Amino acid sequence: MLSCKELVARSSDFLDSQLSFRERLAVRSHLAMCRHCRRFIRQMRVTQRVLRALPEAAIPELEALAARLAEQRRLQR
Ligand SMILES: [Zn+2]
Repeated sequence: MLSCKELVARSSDFLDSQLSFRERLAVRSHLAMCRHCRRFIRQMRVTQRVLRALPEAAIPELEALAARLAEQRRLQR
C-alpha cells in the first residue's frame, strides 16, 4: 500500500486523471483506508475548482497593476 507521502506526491496527477490504472487503484485503496488523505484530496479538489473559477480577465489587470507599481518604484529612485 502507498504511504501518505507517496499519495501526496501523486495527488495532483490523480486529480488531473494522469495516473495509470494501477496507480489510480493504489491511490483509491489508500484513500479508502486513510481519512487524513481523503481530507487532503478533498481540499485539493476545492482549491483546483477555485483556481479554475477565477476569471482569466483578472490576470492582465494584475499584470498591469504590477507594471504600474514597478514604474512608480523606478520613478522614485
Ligand atoms: Zn494517507
